[in-house]
Amino acid sequence: MPQLAQRVGRAKPSAIMVIAEKAKQLKAAGRDIISFSIGVPNFFPGEHVYAAAREALQHDSGQYGSNRGADALLDAFLVHIEKLGFKGYGRTNLSIGIGAKQVLYNLGEALLNEGDEIAFAAPFWTTYRDIADILGAKANILHCGPEQNYKLTPAQLDAALARKPKVFLFNNPSNPTGMVYTRDEIAALADVLAKYPDTWIITDDIYNSMVFDGLGYHNFVHVKPELKDRLIFVDSVSKTYGMPGWRVGLIAGPENVAKAITTLNSNHITSVPEVVTAAAVAAFSGPQDVPQAKCKEFAGKRDVVVNALRAIPGVVCPTPQGAFYAFPDISVAFGKSHNGTRIENDVDFCAALLEAKGVACVPGSAFGEPRAMRISYTCPTAQLQPGLERIQAFFAELT
Ligand code: PMP
Repeated sequence: MPQLAQRVGRAKPSAIMVIAEKAKQLKAAGRDIISFSIGVPNFFPGEHVYAAAREALQHDSGQYGSNRGADALLDAFLVHIEKLGFKGYGRTNLSIGIGAKQVLYNLGEALLNEGDEIAFAAPFWTTYRDIADILGAKANILHCGPEQNYKLTPAQLDAALARKPKVFLFNNPSNPTGMVYTRDEIAALADVLAKYPDTWIITDDIYNSMVFDGLGYHNFVHVKPELKDRLIFVDSVSKTYGMPGWRVGLIAGPENVAKAITTLNSNHITSVPEVVTAAAVAAFSGPQDVPQAKCKEFAGKRDVVVNALRAIPGVVCPTPQGAFYAFPDISVAFGKSHNGTRIENDVDFCAALLEAKGVACVPGSAFGEPRAMRISYTCPTAQLQPGLERIQAFFAELT
């Protein structure tokens, strides 16, 4: 029999999808399921986006497009990132992909040789480790537990960069923790980054529109512009505009990196479809009331989630200040039982919670932190409190 390539064996099915699939099955079997599992923003971008897509359909929109993205989209993105604080970028600094996920994979291909090191903090978005594994790169995972609010410290970064990794990958606001770095924290990390000129910096900041408590969104280049020639900013329409299925991600970075991504695109994807491009242009350049309203709504939901979790004895929940996730430390439940089912770890916990109470959460080990679980609070507001009450009841029933 012919064999599959080794890299396929290194790729693992997403743990998030596994739990979401199980929740779906239970729902199909008639169970009342509340899903806190997948990070899907369940809102719509606004009529102007659909109008732009319909308008594009009226024209000859079925042709191949540009490998780096249509000029109209690049120009709309330039205006968008300027508002985020990125100054002095032009079209030649940009390129595109089928969502941030494909952009990140492309960046891995563009920057990492087999055996190269890529450093990133845990808890991390699951795909980071998978990209490293598929590409045969070495992941240096920097553990940042709840006792340090899941945030990377300058000392940890310094120790990691002293090993001269090829790439440092950073995510702010964070999936899965919802943590947001303050301007001072970003400045302190940027000071360390400036000491190590041989490391590329990728900032995956696709939740930049969802920052609460007046903290603002900050990037290393905002405080240290000289990092611009080795920093790549990754953005997407998925979370900001509630458009995950449209699949548009973009980068802004040094020209040689943008060019490399465009060359890879010419071999991998050719282009983002024209109808999708028209929708993305409308999202970036149209009214921004949807992301603003959603940010407010998520901040309110965050309060409800954190208050409910903190009311459970022994559960520790650092305050998320962005995105739409909470990441409580649930290890107080380990070693206990629920109706005779023993809970040894986060995977047992999430399986028992789903079975007993119909609430789907993702085990923290999927994100490199086995003491925790991820709650994604994008569900309809009416389901939030009942879901949290079920989690509280589950804890209360542990023996
Ligand atoms: N980065 C992070 C941190 C994410 O959470 C996600 C989506 N869950 C992505 C990238 C990928 O986003 P996209 O839909 O644009 O591929």
